[in-house]
Amino acid sequence: MNFQKELDTILQNIEGVPSLLLHSCCAPCSSYVISYLTKYFDITVFYYNPNIFPREEYEKRKEEQIRFIREFKTKHPVKFIDCEYDSEHFFRAVNGLEYEPERGRRCTECFRLRLTRTAYEAEKRNFDWFATTLTVSPHKNAEEINKTGFAIPCTAKYLPSDFKKKDGYKRSIELSEKYGLYRQNYCGCIYSKKNNPK
Ligand code: SF4
Repeated sequence: MNFQKELDTILQNIEGVPSLLLHSCCAPCSSYVISYLTKYFDITVFYYNPNIFPREEYEKRKEEQIRFIREFKTKHPVKFIDCEYDSEHFFRAVNGLEYEPERGRRCTECFRLRLTRTAYEAEKRNFDWFATTLTVSPHKNAEEINKTGFAIPCTAKYLPSDFKKKDGYKRSIELSEKYGLYRQNYCGCIYSKKNNPK
């Protein structure tokens, strides 16, 4: 399935400026996605990433996210919602999947955890749409992420994506350089850190 094409079709038919709760994993990934979607949506970035280890890394990525939103000028001002660092939820969600490779079943549960919480907040706060920046990464399975997003029952509509397309990933690197954003060298959880211990 071509999720970029699906997103294009939705964007062509957008009326007005609907609200979008955008789950973001980090500032670099959000940079391109915000620059792309701000023309169409009133965006609120939702930072829910209890997978990130250790806590200092989580805080560092969050601060970069806030700084980017502050410094990046957009058509519609971007808002930010912080969430709690409930890492025990992450460890419970991936229990038994610790040795799975990246892109495996642990990652699917990690996506589900973060998207489910995003959908819950989107419904509670009456957002029109919810989405995630996660598909900008060439290391992540966009099909798996979109399948997970579509499967979550929510009054807000799920916005499918494959943000790495149309040079999205390349653009996120360029924007990261321009804004001097911190770019981590591992995905986030303790298991991905062990596999990339630099
Ligand atoms: S590798 Fe990344 S996506 Fe997979 S479980 Fe760890 S933090 Fe989540």
